[in-house]
Amino acid sequence: MTKTGEPPQVRYETPAPKIAHIVLDRPQKRNAQGTLMTYHLDQALKRACEDDAISVIVLAAAGDHFSAGHDLSMSEPAMAPPEERATMWSQYGSPGWEGIYSREREVYLEMTERWRNAPKPVVAAVQGSVISGGLMLMWMADIIIAADDARFRDNTGSDMGVPGVEFFNHPFELGVRRAKQFLFTGGWLSAHAAAAAGMVNEVVPRDQLDARALELAEEIARTDRFTLKLIKDSVNAAQDAMGRKQAMQSAFANHQIGHLQNMLVHGFPIDITKLPDSVRKHLEAALAAGRDKEMAKG
Ligand code: ZN
Repeated sequence: MTKTGEPPQVRYETPAPKIAHIVLDRPQKRNAQGTLMTYHLDQALKRACEDDAISVIVLAAAGDHFSAGHDLSMSEPAMAPPEERATMWSQYGSPGWEGIYSREREVYLEMTERWRNAPKPVVAAVQGSVISGGLMLMWMADIIIAADDARFRDNTGSDMGVPGVEFFNHPFELGVRRAKQFLFTGGWLSAHAAAAAGMVNEVVPRDQLDARALELAEEIARTDRFTLKLIKDSVNAAQDAMGRKQAMQSAFANHQIGHLQNMLVHGFPIDITKLPDSVRKHLEAALAAGRDKEMAKG
């Protein structure tokens, strides 16, 4: 049981000396990222970083798919309790755009940034579909091992009227031209194409994914723990010197303009007209019931 009192959506294991194995464990929802998964993952990463015996973290996901993206079901609390939050942004229940903007800063942008800056190396093992918000869960890792059945897309632009997910790392993951095609079309990128673009380190057969991720983590863990932290911090600093963070802030502002445009045109922060009927009807019903306001409440 977690601090929130809910069943954990993230599993924490120590399969080998110096290795923490953190598993997204909501396979029945294709590991969709709702509030609970976000904060359970945050707690697991914090635990691994604070544990003197851990040098390297493996991030994996249960089931056939790494993550289907953000949970649009509106079935979970909008926010974690105050003591679990990562930022002091606050006012998550405010009217107008303040509440929604504040939640997106806390839950998506700054939480992913915090994970990306976790000092210990993270090796992600990804399989099946990795969609939109799921990319953020993967991109925070330092090394990505993909199963040969992995495939990636960000359809927030093509299908939902928002110009890419909040943690806008696409240009740094794919290069600018591939990033534009990826976002303009919302099309799928295969594991091998992602490897060719530099977004993933290795592609392995599906049945070897877990073993390969653990093997690589153990190889990394042979290097001194503090040295690993200094290497990671130095490479991250190089990426930041290229303007990553400033570019991401600019993209986040555009992301908010996209949400506001949808609010004005469709009465909802995303364009729901292209969503599958079942999802759209669910969201419309939730909207009618005033759940949109509840979602924004802290
Ligand atoms: Zn958003």
